[in-house]
Amino acid sequence: MNNNLLKGKKGLIVGVANERSLAWGIANSVFQAGGTIAFTYQSEALKKRIIPLANKVNSNFTYEFDVQDYKGAPDFFKKLSIDFGNIDFLIHAVAFSDKEELNGDYVDTTKDNFLKTMEISCFSFTSLIKNALPYLNNNASLLTLSYFGAEKVIPHYNVMGVAKAALESSVKYLAVDLGKRNIRVNAISAGPVRTLAASGISDFRYILKWNEYNSPLERNITLDDVGGAGVYLISDLSSGTTGEILHVDGGYNVIGMKNVNAPDISKV
Ligand code: NAD
Repeated sequence: MNNNLLKGKKGLIVGVANERSLAWGIANSVFQAGGTIAFTYQSEALKKRIIPLANKVNSNFTYEFDVQDYKGAPDFFKKLSIDFGNIDFLIHAVAFSDKEELNGDYVDTTKDNFLKTMEISCFSFTSLIKNALPYLNNNASLLTLSYFGAEKVIPHYNVMGVAKAALESSVKYLAVDLGKRNIRVNAISAGPVRTLAASGISDFRYILKWNEYNSPLERNITLDDVGGAGVYLISDLSSGTTGEILHVDGGYNVIGMKNVNAPDISKV
């Protein structure tokens, strides 16, 4: 990793839960590339995990913040700007759905969980950006995390796939809104990785195995793969790229009917 690529850039990462989080993969790579990071954690219960992780990347800037706290958001961003300064990047790696509905059929989605999934997994990106706007530097790069289930049906991904489709669409609308300030908005569509959020998806191990069997790179992706793409999208190397959904999934998205190998379910 070139340790000057993000020198002088600082930003906020929302969505680290532990060292397996995709957001942590990005944090690590950003740090190695010379960037400075502030973190939020969702609740007091996660604080003891986040502070030592933040220390590993030389950060003392950690804040409790729930993306559904719309009243507290303006004060949070104001405080962040006073403590940490204006920001050059914002990483949104947040999703939630009732795990009872990441099983069975999409048609059984309840209204309550549909709205909650959409709110936390999609609207929160727009809302974070709206609140961060006064404190974004003019060439800032904003990034969210999506998944192939936005484009094609993945078993049990259900309402989360619908929310990711809306999230990917909102990346494009936001890119247009913010382009005039030279602020870029992109998404990484990551392949499956075993994380806390992923553990809620029924048969996730089978999805992992399927990806390994069928992606051109014949493996699942790592946190470093996601981190490298994050550094690229934050850095000035991607200065002409906005409104883009960058697939970091071993090429899984390019497979049509050519190479569909089904893993033996009894061995997964
Ligand atoms: P994770 O469990 O490590 O991260 C999810 C994060 O969302 C947690 O830090 C959690 O605290 C946060 N969160 C949920 N509700 C919140 C709220 N109300 N306020 C603030 N934070 C809240 O899991 P992950 O897999 O690293 O997920 C990060 C992102 O990556 C998600 O958007 C997920 O959909 C996406 N993604 C994951 C995979 C995968 O296979 N793991 C693949 C593609 C995309």
